[in-house]
Amino acid sequence: MQALQLEFITNGGKADLIITIARTGESELSAFLMETDQPGFEVVERIHTIGVRASNTVRFKLTNARGWHTPCTFEQATGLLYRGRLGIAGMAVGIAEKATELAIDYSKQREQFNRRLADMQSVQNMIADNVVDCEAALLLLHKGAAMFDRGENVVRISSIAKLFASEAANRCTNNAIQIHGGRGMTFEFLVEKLWRDAKLTEIGEGCSEIQRMVIAKQSLR
Ligand SMILES: Cc1cc2nc3c(=O)[nH]c(=O)nc-3n(C[C@H](O)[C@H](O)[C@H](O)COP(=O)(O)OP(=O)(O)OC[C@H]3O[C@@H](n4cnc5c(N)ncnc54)[C@H](O)[C@@H]3O)c2cc1C
Repeated sequence: MQALQLEFITNGGKADLIITIARTGESELSAFLMETDQPGFEVVERIHTIGVRASNTVRFKLTNARGWHTPCTFEQATGLLYRGRLGIAGMAVGIAEKATELAIDYSKQREQFNRRLADMQSVQNMIADNVVDCEAALLLLHKGAAMFDRGENVVRISSIAKLFASEAANRCTNNAIQIHGGRGMTFEFLVEKLWRDAKLTEIGEGCSEIQRMVIAKQSLR
């Protein structure tokens, strides 16, 4: 049997159990629950990324691996994605809020030209933009999470929340580094880590381009 390689699996290097979803027919998907402690499962390498470095992200190989087969519908399989998109939106909101909090704190402490950064209008504008982004992203996340909890269809809202929150996180962390000036580019301030982590939120669980496609398709029906 041909070996199958899967890459970019978050915490795949730590997992005891994995769920692999594969096409098993023309329009049929199946979920396979597999133990990683078996000869057919092999971690090929750890993938080192610029952000989310605490995750043990790996490429792994399956060769005649054994697993429990569970037929599932396309909707059940993709349902995992929609929940995951809300999860990424939550991650993005957390990053955006922390970056904004750090930027506000720093702007109150740092003085240049006999004024605090916090008293400079262009710095205030960046902080205002961040605060608006954080609030809007949080509201979209709450809406999606509430719909999910009520068992409603979250295809559209999960993409909206994920798209907006991830782009907001990137804007917020970028502004936070700007407010920290040169210090923001060193490894001594947390804002650089948040900036690196924010990028993943625009890529993982489907890149922004895919989210826009989903939103447009759902809206044009
Ligand atoms: C740290 C990390 C952890 C991850 N963890 C997991 C995991 O646990 N499980 C998992 O399954 N995956 C995981 N991924 C994979 C992730 O979901 C994919 O990287 C992501 O969906 C983008 O797919 P791709 O990398 O194949 O990019 P590609 O599909 O090659 O796309 C590259 C770029 O092309 C553009 N593009 C692609 N398709 C389109 C389109 N249809 N229309 C317009 N533009 C397009 C976009 O700009 C996109 O960013 C992880 C990735 C990273 C970086």
